[in-house]
This record gives sequence, structure tokens and C-alpha cells, in this order.
Amino acid sequence: MQPAQLSKFIKTAALAVGFDWCGICAAVQPPGFDQFQAWLDSGFHGQMEYMERRKEAYRHPHHVLEGAKSIVMLAINYESVSHPSLSAGSGRVSRYAWGQGDYHDIIHQRLKTLKRQILERCPQVSMRGVVDTAPLLEREFAVLSGLGWQGKNTLLINKWVGSWFFLAALIVDVDLETDAIHETDHCGTCRACLDACPTDAFREPYLLDATKCISYLTIELRDPIPTALRKPMGDWVFGCDVCQEVCPWNNKSKPTSDPHFYPREDLAPMDLIELFEITDEDFRTRFRKTPLWRSRRRGILRNAAIVLGNQADVMAIPALIRGLQDAEPLVRGASAWALRQFSEPRAQQAINDRLLIETDAQVLAELKGMSK
Ligand code: SF4
Repeated sequence: MQPAQLSKFIKTAALAVGFDWCGICAAVQPPGFDQFQAWLDSGFHGQMEYMERRKEAYRHPHHVLEGAKSIVMLAINYESVSHPSLSAGSGRVSRYAWGQGDYHDIIHQRLKTLKRQILERCPQVSMRGVVDTAPLLEREFAVLSGLGWQGKNTLLINKWVGSWFFLAALIVDVDLETDAIHETDHCGTCRACLDACPTDAFREPYLLDATKCISYLTIELRDPIPTALRKPMGDWVFGCDVCQEVCPWNNKSKPTSDPHFYPREDLAPMDLIELFEITDEDFRTRFRKTPLWRSRRRGILRNAAIVLGNQADVMAIPALIRGLQDAEPLVRGASAWALRQFSEPRAQQAINDRLLIETDAQVLAELKGMSK
């Protein structure tokens, strides 16, 4: 098959298997590779050590697929509904994560179907499907494929659909007909995302300090959340949508008809109080097949305690006292901080009681209000 013919076939098949948009570029060194290296050197990736470890592999897609020649960039719209209003004791989960099942599994399944269809036509093609986990700067290749530009919030934005979409890539070892690069930037003088970020995570336009980003803090960080960033976390228990919610280009987005991306009842919003009653096993059963599994029970309970502390509704005190007895120091520490946000005598009493038996240095610091 000729490159133009094969490209056309792939694009048609991609839409048929459940991708919403598709663009193609050459497998080259991404233009932002040096910038990415500088970002890593500045430590803005925090504990995402997998990036540091594979630093060199991001240089070229042939580190992901030997002989890579072209990349088919694919996007899936996950826009569904707005965040429901919150009552005390509940928290927000980022929209990309609140759907039915883990989006990685859903997208991989579609990539598999697409690959099978391509192989039926061209059995000699080698391919590798990528969703987040390979050392590939997907947004760079999405720009090269004409899907949009990287906004000041560093996300990919498309003029017609905004930014509520997942990106995936299919790297192939054959030449395909490429699309025109998206060369223009349509952020203009807008800085809504920069101004709205609750933790001030943007060092400057287009430069995110991930160590301050609520998504990083609630998902990737394995340690206690820095004290100064706890209040700004507000109600976010997993991820954050603020910089997308304020982006005017998202006024153009249209809800998907794909039921997978509509919220699970228990995630929009998430009941934080009952979380303090669930065991590791319960957590696994409920969340193993969702993006929340990445944070594990201890990470989600740490985040939940902080949100409950921010809300400071007395109804949460018994759950937080339970959190103070948790086997995980991360949960005990966050619960101690949260209880310190209450002036209620029973919250203070619980802290004093725990001080008598606690042995973990970090938790002791939290109990005494001396954490950093
Ligand atoms: Fe660009 Fe404004 Fe959207 Fe930020 S909010 S990404 S500055 S258009």
C-alpha cells in the first residue's frame, strides 16, 4: 500500500474503532526535547523518577519502537458533565479519572483493534501503541500532527474542541503521509489558567512546576503533601481540573456520547468520610480498575484527610480520628493535620491521646503542628 493510501485507511479505521481525532507526523526528535531536558534538570518532575530514568529515551521515538518512521496521534474526547456541587464530606475527582474503568485499558483495547485492522492490510508493519507509559512526548507529536498547540497550561488545545481529551500514539515503522504541523498559538494575551491555579504551579506561561501541581500532589507524590500546599488543594482528592475549566477554548468542547467517560456515581463527588472505613482489600475491589489505584489507599486517604481538614465540618471528626489510628503513617499524619484545623475539644483530645503512643517522627511532627 502507498503511504497516502495507508494513511487514509488508518485514519478511517481509527475513527471507526472509537478515536475522535487523528493526525500523522514523522517519527523525529521532538522539537521540545531540549526544553524537556532542562525541565527535568530543574527538578520540576519531582518524584516522577521514571522520567529521569528514561531521560535519553525521549530523544527519539525509535527508543520506543525500533525503526520508527511515523506516528499516528490519536485523541479521544472525554468531556461529559460539569462537576456536581459539593457538600461537606465529599471531594472532587478529576474528570479524566471519574469514568467507568481505567482509560488506559479502554484506549489500549481500541489501539489493539486498530493494529489488527492495519495488520490485515499490511502484515509487514511493526507497530507500538502508547498511552502515557512510554518515553514519548505525546503533546509534541500531537502538535506536529496538526492536532493543536500546547497552551500556557502546557496541555494540548484544539481550536474546535478545547482540551478535554486523552492522547494516544501508534508508532509505526513505515512512512505515512503526514499532516501539516499546527504552527500557531491561540492563547494570545489570555492568562486565565495561570491566574486560576490554586497552588501557583506555573513558573511562567508554558512552564509547569509539577511539584506544586495538585494533580502531582494527589497522584504522584508518595510523601506527605507540603503544608503550604494543603489549603490551596481545596476539595481536590484526585487530580485537578482548574486550568482546563477556566480555559476559554473549552467553551467549544462538546460532551462525548461514549458512556465510558461519564462519571461513576461514587466518584462525582467522592464520599470521603466512608473512605476511612475501607480496608486495603475493599479499596482494591472498588478502585483496582480505575486511575485512582495509582495513588493506592494510603494516598487517597491522605488526600481525603486534607480535603476534610480544609472543609472543617465537624461531621468529619470521627472519620479523622479513625484516620489517626490507621496503620499507614501517611494517613495518620494527614489526619493529624486535618484534626488540627478544628477547634472542637474532641479533635484536640484525639491529638493529645495519639501523642502519647505515636512513634513515627513525621506523624509526631504533624500532631505537634510542626510539619513542613
Ligand atoms: Fe491558553 Fe488561556 Fe487556555 Fe491558559 S486558559 S491555556 S492561557 S487560552
